[in-house]
Order: sequence, then C-alpha cells, then structure tokens
Amino acid sequence: MGRFDGRVALITGAARGIGAASARQLAGEGAAVVITDMDAGPAEEVAQDVRSSGGKALAVACDVSSREQVFAAVDRGVAEFGRLDIMVSNAGITRDNMLYKMTDDDWDAVINTHLRGSFLAAQAAQKPMVGQRYGKIILMSSLSALGMRGQTNYSTAKAGLQGMARTLAIELGQFNINVNAIAPGYIETRMTRDTAARMGLTWEQLAEQWVKLVPLRRIGTPEDIAKVVAFLASDEAGFITGETIYVSGGAK
Ligand code: NDP
Repeated sequence: MGRFDGRVALITGAARGIGAASARQLAGEGAAVVITDMDAGPAEEVAQDVRSSGGKALAVACDVSSREQVFAAVDRGVAEFGRLDIMVSNAGITRDNMLYKMTDDDWDAVINTHLRGSFLAAQAAQKPMVGQRYGKIILMSSLSALGMRGQTNYSTAKAGLQGMARTLAIELGQFNINVNAIAPGYIETRMTRDTAARMGLTWEQLAEQWVKLVPLRRIGTPEDIAKVVAFLASDEAGFITGETIYVSGGAK
C-alpha cells in the first residue's frame, strides 16, 4: 500500500528538476500524476518513465500564466483519473538583474509565472477539491523570499507565495483543504546551473561558493524537496496548513 493509492496529483513545471522529482515521488507512492509543463515533449518523457515503472501518468502541455491552459489541464486530469487531490504549483523561472537594470519584461515574466501561475493553479484546483471536501495545495516558494541580491522580482514573488498559502489556508480550511508552501534553498537543477552559466562560472565553482552558506554543507537535490512535497501531500501532515517549510540545509 502506498501513501497515495487512489489519489490524483497535478504538478506544474514537472518536466524536469524539482517538479519531475515530485511527480516521481508521488507516483512511486501510488498517486496517478498529471505531469504538466510548457512543452508536452519533455513532460511526456517523465510520464513514460512513470508508466514504465508501473505508475499512472498523463502529460499535458500547460503554460501556468494562461488561465485557459491551467483550467484545461485540471479538467484533463479530472477527466482521465476522476478527481484531483494534490496540486503542486511548482513551475518557475528566474530573470535575475540588479534593480537598476531590471526591465519590465524581467519583472512581468517572473511575477506572472510564480504569482499569477500559482493563483490560477490554486483557483482551478479548488473546484474539484471543494466538491470532494479533500485537497492538498503546495506552493513552491524559495529561500530567496528572505531577500537575495539581484532577485527583486523573484524574491517578491516567492515572498508573495507565502502570503498566498496563508490566505488560501484560511479560505479553504473549512473544505478540508490544506495549503502550504515549501521554500527550498540551494538545489541543483537546470535553473541553478543556468545561474552559474550566467555568472560566468562552472556549476562546481558556484556550488563551492553556495555550500559555505549551508550549515549541512551540501547542495540540495530535487529529491530532498520531493520528499517534503510528499509529506505535505500526505495525511501525516493533515493538521498543518498555512505554513512555509524551509528545506535549505539550514541556510537562511
Ligand atoms: P527547472 O528550471 O529545473 O524546472 C522548472 C520547470 O518549470 C521547467 O520545466 C520549466 O519549463 C517550467 N516552467 C517555466 N515556466 C513555466 C510556465 N510558464 N508554465 C509551465 N511551466 C513552466 O527549475 P527547478 O526545478 O529548480 O524549479 C522548480 C521550482 O522550485 C521553481 O518554482 C523554482 O523557483 C523553485 N526553487 C528552486 C530552487 C533551486 O535552487 N533550484 C530554490 C528555490 C526554489 P521550460 O523548461 O520549458 O522552461
């Protein structure tokens, strides 16, 4: 028996990184997973991987900044698997720049992906969840919510998600829906490898700098985050709502 037998999860931005690891973790514990990402191709690869390990998975192309696409993805998932129990709003981008160089496009792209994307994901998910009187919504915040040089757009969005989690928890608690946020620290994914490249560093050079900021003295893995996603999605976390859990090896 898996913790998520009979449950259905939708994960945004799940073609790689933390989203893909979360999808694999939930599927490995019995959930049927709807793997959504900008492009269907890479999402389908993760879905095939899950299916070849004996799991249930559907890949759906979905840009989280589009109301039509987010609602259509939830509808597809519910049509295929009959319900929606877990929404992991994970899709994310960075457009780092110092304030004086940050463009409107840098600001809008990050705010739209994280804040509008999570607002739409939560709004689309709450409909089936309220009907079921059961749901778990998990928003992907960041250590950057506490402030990070060059990330005015991103840290604003990630701090906003913590407020969103608290407010949705207050609104949706009466329907037995838990809403929480996870704030990962330094995790090795394409996003952070791209950051190294933009800084003119190899991944190893950037990781060496970052690791000094982490009391546990290692960079995190997508699986470190996926395990906390699974905890918050599980009934073991049934009395936790409106919280943000920092998963950062102690970095602050
Ligand atoms: P990745 O870049 O590896 O994965 C992010 C995924 O999100 C990509 O597949 C990307 O698609 C997708 N995506 C981007 N924009 C959209 C959109 N508009 N609609 C749908 N999908 C989209 O990053 P991570 O796995 O590192 O990041 C996952 C989440 O974790 C993000 O919210 C990030 O901010 C957060 N996070 C990451 C940390 C880290 O250290 N890695 C630390 C703290 C938080 P595509 O490839 O097509 O662009």
